[in-house]
Amino acid sequence: MVILAGFAIGIIMAVYIAWPWIKVYMEGDEIAVDIGFSGSPGSFAQDDELGELYSQRDAARTAIEELEFDLKSGTLSNEDFDELKGNYEAKADSILKQIDDKEKGAWQDSEIEKQIMELRQGVACFCPECGGKCREDDKFCVQCGASL
Ligand SMILES: [Zn+2]
Repeated sequence: MVILAGFAIGIIMAVYIAWPWIKVYMEGDEIAVDIGFSGSPGSFAQDDELGELYSQRDAARTAIEELEFDLKSGTLSNEDFDELKGNYEAKADSILKQIDDKEKGAWQDSEIEKQIMELRQGVACFCPECGGKCREDDKFCVQCGASL
């Protein structure tokens, strides 16, 4: 029992000590994988991607802040700092560009959808009998049945 408890504490300590490296590794990996991801059509997917990009941007900013902290606390050399910071800044830049593109794309999509909706609901004329809406190619009023 004592041996088991000692073993468990050992694992916890090891994870605790290695955590900054584990964290950096996981975050770096995630950013690297997602940057290559290109957009798919559909406004829902786009919203999700945009949210994902926002959190990636925040993660990159946090990573840079952590690097600055490491530099100040002396755990990181100037050379390593410059290199890592350059990497994260390049990632952040590319994420920001993607966010820009997505936001523009989302705006265009919603404009197009709006125009399609207007066309679908297109009111070309009104019924002379009841004043109801009708489309140009309608032969009879959908509301009162009067011929148009
Ligand atoms: Zn009518």
